[in-house]
Amino acid sequence: MKSLPKAIKETLDWVHARNHSEPVFIQAVDEVLRSLAPVISAYPDILEENLLQRICEPERQLIFHVVWQDDQGRTQVNRGFRVKFNSALGPYKGGLRFHPTVNLGVIKFLGFEQIFKNSLTGLSIGGGKGGSDFDPKGKSEREVMRFCQSFMTELYRHIGPSEDVPAGDIGVGGREIGYLFGQYKRLTNRYDLGVITGKDTAWGGSLVRKEATGFGAVYFLEEMLKTRGEGIEGKTAVVSGSGNVALYAIRKLMDLGANVVACSDSDGTVHQPGGLDFDQLRQIKEIERGRIRSYAERCPKAKFIPRKKGSIWTIPCELALPCATQNELTGVDAMALINNGCIAVSEGANMPSTPEAINIFHKKNILFGPGKAANAGGVAVSALEMQQNAALASWTFAEVDKRLRDTMAGIHGTCVHYSRKFSKRGNYVDGANIGGFLRVAQAMLSHGII
Ligand code: NDP
Repeated sequence: MKSLPKAIKETLDWVHARNHSEPVFIQAVDEVLRSLAPVISAYPDILEENLLQRICEPERQLIFHVVWQDDQGRTQVNRGFRVKFNSALGPYKGGLRFHPTVNLGVIKFLGFEQIFKNSLTGLSIGGGKGGSDFDPKGKSEREVMRFCQSFMTELYRHIGPSEDVPAGDIGVGGREIGYLFGQYKRLTNRYDLGVITGKDTAWGGSLVRKEATGFGAVYFLEEMLKTRGEGIEGKTAVVSGSGNVALYAIRKLMDLGANVVACSDSDGTVHQPGGLDFDQLRQIKEIERGRIRSYAERCPKAKFIPRKKGSIWTIPCELALPCATQNELTGVDAMALINNGCIAVSEGANMPSTPEAINIFHKKNILFGPGKAANAGGVAVSALEMQQNAALASWTFAEVDKRLRDTMAGIHGTCVHYSRKFSKRGNYVDGANIGGFLRVAQAMLSHGII
């Protein structure tokens, strides 16, 4: 930390001291504040108005119990969260994650990332996140419905189209959004379409929302490759995860001519050197809600590698897209990717690469698109969903896809601009952090000391 300006170091110490039991939150703050080192001397107001501490402390944090009944009639208790991190640019906006690893620190890390991501889209949305330690895996449809209803019975009083607009994340897809909205409607007696995004297109959802995060991560990758005179066509790609983001990253990579040879879930990896079969994958994951292991059972050319027997990142590829979860790609994985010929990494997930992995990518001059820039397509199309709801309009697939592609190109341009202007290191991480921060900072300064 020696070379860091005193104010950054002091803020980091302050954040560490008051959040010491939340390592992923500290990791996310650490990365952003380090990027801001060159900016604080150019904008004295940042320190004078104490923006660094202010942006690291959520505006409001809610923790509540979620009591629901399982199919055996037993009463179950989970913990629910909503962290309203920063509303300088607009209503809080960010997804809900249902996963057993969820705790306050995880939701704070995701909410913090969301501030800068939302800012980078150029849209009027603040940053927030929520979720629960509920595990939808292995639960019946009715159990998921009862859980969502109980979760919303507390959350509904804290959200609204101009207050806080949740969406999906890990474990929360179209099905859960439907149950959550249904309960909100019942409790409030209002059909507030703009209160939640990721809705089914039959009742207020936007075309391309389901695809947006995965497509967007590939559009960002395309922009990065262009800077080196490269393209996606003909390249071999590996995508971790097999959920919403991974599936549609795979779809778009295939559409643009890549050979996608592997994907994964928490049990292991499927590897198919000739290229995955998207329709089969979608059938198993999106329709049957099955496991990746059964893909290998149905496709004889695919091999299933259990998690304990090896990481997806040891499979040779030129393009790598981590689309599963935080810290899934370590320094060892980064070295394996580089030694096998990887030239670019675009993060579909939030903070999937460890700081050690990112350092290695930068040292080895690998094109590296950090999540808060590369996966911003999801929230960008969520905001387009809100616009369509407000206008009672419904845009075509081509129209929304074009806006998504333009937004991703715009975010890429912002990252390049700010990394060239301020960062000696000249990388996308600094560009995204600085570009995202400065817009929020300007709004916070305008609003005064609140
Ligand atoms: P899903 O729940 O649809 O899918 C998550 C996928 O990641 C599943 O295949 C899951 O496997 C896998 N996974 C989770 N943990 C691990 C692990 N430890 N090792 C290997 N695989 C794992 O979630 P999403 O696709 O929506 O989200 C994926 C990532 O993208 C998250 O980081 C999320 O925050 C981020 N993101 C999502 C957005 C969206 O629009 N949905 C927007 C921006 C970012 P398993 O089934 O075994 O758990």
